[in-house]
Amino acid sequence: MSHVVTQSCCSDASCVYACPVNCIHPTPDEPDFLTAEMLHIDPQACVDCGACVSACPVDAIVPESKLTDPQRVFLQINADFYKEERPRPLLAKVIPATTVDQGRPPLRVAIVGSGPSAMYAADELLTQPDVQVNVFDRLPVPYGLVRAGVAPDHQKTKQVTRLFDKIAAQKGFEFYLNVEIGNHLSHNELLENHHAVLYAVGASSDRGLDIPGADLPGTASATDFVAWYNGHPDHADDVFDLSHQRAVIIGNGNVALDVARILTADPEKLAATDISAHALAALRKSLVEEVVIVGRRGIAQSAFTVPEFTGLMALPDIELSVGPDDMILDPATEHADALPHAVEQKLKLLEALKNRDHVDVGSKRITLRYLLTPTAITGEDHVTGVEFDRNTLVDGDGAAGIEPTGDTETIDTGLVLTSIGYRGVPLTGVPFDERASVIPNDGGRVLEAPGVYATGWIKRGPSGFIGTNKSCAQETVGKLVDDFNNGNLTSPSADATALDRLVRSRQSAVVDRAGWHAIDKAERERGAAHGRIREKILDQAEALSIINAAAQAKSARRRLWKASH
Ligand code: NAP
Repeated sequence: MSHVVTQSCCSDASCVYACPVNCIHPTPDEPDFLTAEMLHIDPQACVDCGACVSACPVDAIVPESKLTDPQRVFLQINADFYKEERPRPLLAKVIPATTVDQGRPPLRVAIVGSGPSAMYAADELLTQPDVQVNVFDRLPVPYGLVRAGVAPDHQKTKQVTRLFDKIAAQKGFEFYLNVEIGNHLSHNELLENHHAVLYAVGASSDRGLDIPGADLPGTASATDFVAWYNGHPDHADDVFDLSHQRAVIIGNGNVALDVARILTADPEKLAATDISAHALAALRKSLVEEVVIVGRRGIAQSAFTVPEFTGLMALPDIELSVGPDDMILDPATEHADALPHAVEQKLKLLEALKNRDHVDVGSKRITLRYLLTPTAITGEDHVTGVEFDRNTLVDGDGAAGIEPTGDTETIDTGLVLTSIGYRGVPLTGVPFDERASVIPNDGGRVLEAPGVYATGWIKRGPSGFIGTNKSCAQETVGKLVDDFNNGNLTSPSADATALDRLVRSRQSAVVDRAGWHAIDKAERERGAAHGRIREKILDQAEALSIINAAAQAKSARRRLWKASH
């Protein structure tokens, strides 16, 4: 018997360090950690102690005896990772935290953004005594893409907010939510008031598809659709045309899978989640019955990950299929002696899907298509279809390339969602690499900008999973602390109370930790009243009045307590 890593693995590797026998791999110091799509438990070495279960922030690890039927496929996925023998030390190599030199004024750091990369960076900084971390976010609610990106049917993944709440409760941590850097406070003002400013702003835009018809009504970016169903306030008024029978998604990464699932899910099942009320209402009226997910390369280059595709295949009420002429390998994959574990698993899953007996499971279908490059979106005043060039696979420069065969194909549709990746956006006063859409940096230390650091997607581009941000943040914080210890950072020009006064003079509606707790509590209570996990409050004025009411109630309780003691 052993434990098994399942779909919601976030790769933050907490389990790796909890394991007494080093049986979870790849570990963060192993070369394949950055490319692995999940972690794996060696069934031969696991001593079944369960330490990893307690360490995992997203409940991804399950004892073999408790695997559900759809989860049993992960037994083999975990075991297959260990087919190839590798030398391993007795214990995983711990990456030591860089120690802040004492005897200087306490280190004070501003973090811009409050998503996973920000929270892991704050946690890393707060392992050191007396460090002050101020976390700024332009939204009145924290946790970035965990709240506004992770799909509502992935509640296990969203559980990582319990860890983030614990990080935010530590001494030295302060939230300045509803405060926009570049609007309420400038980058220079932030830097003047801290030893260092660490940008953890993610990639808030998307890579647009530059083909004729890309701006026709009925076309939108998948990332906007995600923000809409997750109740991001910037997208609360978006409208998506769900009145057609077929939707086409361009790109086949995990975002494409998320969007396809939400478009084909039973709205009554989504109703129990924290999906935004406006999206739920629209999905209840949706006429979409089929989603076609289109990749320009081959099956071995599918951008979705093994755990997510395994989850999609396990959905009981969706007819999932792959284009019958699309199961084609590129020459390098076809002739390889051994394939990377993730590619091998994906090909296995796709083969199993192709050979699966057809079961009539209802009216909703997801079809995977490959080898199609979109060339135009057609329609007069609304999308009617997408034209594609059919490709053949060739050996490219290190990766499989494509060449058009000369054949074309049109897929009729009334909704096109482009899902070809997120993109970072420049910040006023901070260097920016336009080509890579990141802040130019060396291991998180921003080039030619002393005292400025970056972590997460704005540092390395939009790749990896929630937990990947932990090792990414450790690297950046290591550089920051080295610079502090070497006396390379300028001390803040004023004390911490001056910063607080400055922020409040620019934004009276700043939301602190108590404010966030008040919104969190109200959202959960409203949700519970309707059998939902959470009912997100999108109206800013309403959120602020809840915060004020909670603050008044707290001070009334305090007065009462004082009077009675
Ligand atoms: P992604 O994984 O980078 O996938 C982008 C897709 O767009 C690829 O199929 C890519 O094909 C295609 N593409 C790019 N440019 C194109 C073009 N000009 N024309 C046609 N196709 C094009 O991006 P994503 O899905 O947005 O995901 C971003 C990150 O978030 C990933 O690391 C993902 O794993 C992560 N994420 C994780 C989860 C989860 O764990 N549950 C959920 C959502 C997102 P090529 O490969 O041919 O370039």
